[in-house]
Amino acid sequence: MTDTPDDRSLDPEDWEAFRGRAHAILDAAISRMESAGEGPVWRAPTEALKTSFERDLPWQGQGGDAVAEQIAALLPYGVGNTHPRFFGWVHGAGTPGNMVAEIAAAAMNANLGGRDHGAMYVEKQVVRWCRGLFGFPEEASGLIVSGTSLATVVALKAARDRATGFGARAEGVGGAGLVGYTSTQTHACVARAFDILGLGTGALRMIPTNAAFEIDIDALEQAIRADRAAGLMPFALIGTAGSVNLGSIDDLDRLADIAAREGMWYHVDGAFGALAILDEGIRPRLAGIARADSLAFDFHKWLQVNYDAGFVLIRSEEAHRRAFSDRPDYLAGAERGLAAGNPWPVEYGPELSRGFRALKIWAQIAEHGMTRLGEVVSRNCVQARYLGGLVDATPELERLAPVALNICCFRFLAGAIPDTTLNALNEEIVIELQEQGIAAPSTTMIGGVKAIRVNLTNHRTRQSDLDLLVREVCRIGAELAARC
Ligand SMILES: *Cc1c(COP(=O)(O)O)cnc(C)c1O
Repeated sequence: MTDTPDDRSLDPEDWEAFRGRAHAILDAAISRMESAGEGPVWRAPTEALKTSFERDLPWQGQGGDAVAEQIAALLPYGVGNTHPRFFGWVHGAGTPGNMVAEIAAAAMNANLGGRDHGAMYVEKQVVRWCRGLFGFPEEASGLIVSGTSLATVVALKAARDRATGFGARAEGVGGAGLVGYTSTQTHACVARAFDILGLGTGALRMIPTNAAFEIDIDALEQAIRADRAAGLMPFALIGTAGSVNLGSIDDLDRLADIAAREGMWYHVDGAFGALAILDEGIRPRLAGIARADSLAFDFHKWLQVNYDAGFVLIRSEEAHRRAFSDRPDYLAGAERGLAAGNPWPVEYGPELSRGFRALKIWAQIAEHGMTRLGEVVSRNCVQARYLGGLVDATPELERLAPVALNICCFRFLAGAIPDTTLNALNEEIVIELQEQGIAAPSTTMIGGVKAIRVNLTNHRTRQSDLDLLVREVCRIGAELAARC
């Protein structure tokens, strides 16, 4: 009997040809990483590239060769975060080892929503490591998610539900009057979580910061008192370990005290900053994390795991599970067989189907070890201070905030130009740096002033990259100012 066409799978008919093509793409991908420091940091997507992704939905496949060609043509057009002079926002740089782990994960094509299979033990290993690293108890639960944004939603859902005796799951938050507290420097993902969870962003009190851009404790105490007096129910306190603008770290121990006294859930956003626990000098300032009810952080930032990979760690496994567990019949677990291995990750988060992010995280940690990964964190902090020194020693530049961790914010000054013009000038300097492919810092506002913001969470950055940055900011700044 011959196969009818309907019996064909999607597997290659010619595995040898597939193997050859796959090796070629792998080689191109390895070369891409090997030469991560060469060429422009970023290049704008060309018209040709854009139109190559504006084709009609293909009913007839183009075949593997054509697809491989299009993929190869895409490789140079990344965000730029694999380059040593990518300083924008907070991006990790990724590693070649992670790329290999991703290939293996794709080969297994595992779904980590639950069940009993090999991949699940890899995630459990990662959860145990994180628990230990941040001093959480043996019973604490954890979940790998896409990033800190989702980790925050998961953590604050557990907080919300616990505050309402888990009634909010069925009844919503209605008139419970739940209010939470964080600082004005907190990442926007916290307000988004309040929005998503039906609490409303208005229920998140944005407390001002002190001169070090850390939450003002007195203002926080006052806000809590005022809300209690108004009959509201303070339920969550969110501290920041490494603010996105400046890398500032709230007084996490004081916040833990206040949350305990007020019976509030204490969450720490440590998206990148939590990993500074690997630096001996910074570690004492992060000790309060071990007292948190929940912690959200990213592997894809300072741990250099390839996108995307974040984590939520929750002290009370019970609160975590009660906030998410509802297993319909078709997802019932079992003592033995494939449906064993309870509890399942689906009971700890909003996703049922989940990819095998755990493998690349595990591989990164297993290959390099925490000491080596921690050295990258420490080096980036030293580099940020070095850059701060360079800025201070350069008359045309003005540092706009202390270097608290791994971020340096400054601006170019040009004679007696008013602030509004200076803001536009500094914005333009950053765009020029990006468009010329020299470096990719980003911008932010500090006290109403536009800052060139340099974030270092990049294992490829060298000191000479910062020397070059300062030279080029001054060159471009002077050119632009001459045209003002
Ligand atoms: C990046 C970041 C987030 C958001 O994390 P994602 O992984 O992008 O979702 C939250 N908080 C801080 C402090 C961050 O730096």
